[in-house]
Amino acid sequence: MSNWKDRQVLIVGGGIGGLAAALALSRQGIAAHVIEQAPQFKEIGAGIQLGPNVFWMFDRLGLIEPISALAVFPNNLIMMDSIGGEEVTRIPLGEAFRRKFHHPYALIHRADLHQVLLDTCMKSDLIRLDAAQKVVKVEETADGIVAQTDTGKEYRGAALIGADGLWSTIRQMIVGDGKPNVAGHITYRAVLPTSEMPEQYRWRDMVLWAGEKVHLVHYPLRTGELFNLVAVFHSNRYEEGWDSYGDPAELHERFAKTCEPVRTLLNKIESWRMWVLCDRPPIKEWSRGRIALLGDAAHPMLQYLAQGAGMSIEDAVCLADKVVAMQGDYAAAFRAYQGARYLRTGRVQIMARVYGEFYHASGVAKELRNMMLGSRTPEEAMAGMEWLYGEQRELTRPAAAAAPAAAE
Ligand SMILES: Cc1cc2nc3c(=O)[nH]c(=O)nc-3n(C[C@H](O)[C@H](O)[C@H](O)COP(=O)(O)OP(=O)(O)OC[C@H]3O[C@@H](n4cnc5c(N)ncnc54)[C@H](O)[C@@H]3O)c2cc1C
Repeated sequence: MSNWKDRQVLIVGGGIGGLAAALALSRQGIAAHVIEQAPQFKEIGAGIQLGPNVFWMFDRLGLIEPISALAVFPNNLIMMDSIGGEEVTRIPLGEAFRRKFHHPYALIHRADLHQVLLDTCMKSDLIRLDAAQKVVKVEETADGIVAQTDTGKEYRGAALIGADGLWSTIRQMIVGDGKPNVAGHITYRAVLPTSEMPEQYRWRDMVLWAGEKVHLVHYPLRTGELFNLVAVFHSNRYEEGWDSYGDPAELHERFAKTCEPVRTLLNKIESWRMWVLCDRPPIKEWSRGRIALLGDAAHPMLQYLAQGAGMSIEDAVCLADKVVAMQGDYAAAFRAYQGARYLRTGRVQIMARVYGEFYHASGVAKELRNMMLGSRTPEEAMAGMEWLYGEQRELTRPAAAAAPAAAE
């Protein structure tokens, strides 16, 4: 009689969410098989911010050490007014912040985070990784799942996780709600060697220059060797897309009203990569039988709270806990997982939109923003972050499995 944990869970998508899911399952002794459409398991893109809530998950996954070795721990979160050039607010990320949230705030290259997950997955006997396989069809049988790729290859497993991102194929099979919303916001991203960053702006901080329908973010990466620059502006000129090259002339036109430091920083970059931002409104159900969604496939969000990857890692830990708690009854586990997650991820989806409005405010709304944020003490600011960064007990101290182990 074999243990239910030996029957592999299929994971479609080897991004941050998919690899985190494989790792979370394997940490509980459950076999996983990640199927990725790209020719290699690899991340493109630039920096990523990690709030303390993600470090709680790294703790569960045994990743604090390798992540910390590659991360930068900034001194402050700073908001500047990109028209007037003055500081609006600053939240120190030192001892008081770490004491309150138990973990730090970190900045890391997306490729480094992905590589840590990949290396750790590769060390596990329970994880198999297949690249260059695009899943096009999924069928649920009486006791499992059959997934088929565009080359006709078949994979069989006890259950399937759709971690296939914003344009998820699996979502269309189980939710069927069409394309995501185009937000009308465009992001240009670039990474600059620190030697090319003007000396007066080489701050070891996460800095956001809030403007009118625009904002610019910069922060150090890779133990300070690089700077990550992210410029965002409103535009309805683009319908959809992911990772193409941006047009610097348009960027300079959109940022024409910003102060000299912002324009100086924008001028430093010759080649930008462009993302058309999309999200979806929150939904309550993203699993069906033995199939569940995770990460951007389940709850794509705008990046304004810097939490999309963080939420996918929380999903991964939660999902694995529920599978163990339900002793391999995947349909029940996936219902419990979505039930435990949808209000938290929905809140981040909704609040990310609100923050986008906040960063891009003009007129009275902007004055109000600056007045409200500027008058807060660091303690008040941290109290406002408790819902996002504070301990989520269901994730950090999961209930033990209720029933005795089921065998097949
Ligand atoms: C500009 C910007 C800045 C951001 N900043 C932050 C930040 O600071 N902090 C943060 O936490 N988050 C941030 N995010 C969000 C974060 O990048 C995403 O939420 C996260 O990468 C989602 O991970 P995922 O694994 O769910 O999806 P993805 O990373 O999209 O991975 C999906 C994977 O599935 C594969 N795939 C797709 N379809 C198939 C198929 N049919 N068969 C097989 N494989 C398939 C894809 O090739 C891909 O590898 C940012 C996003 C943007 C756009």
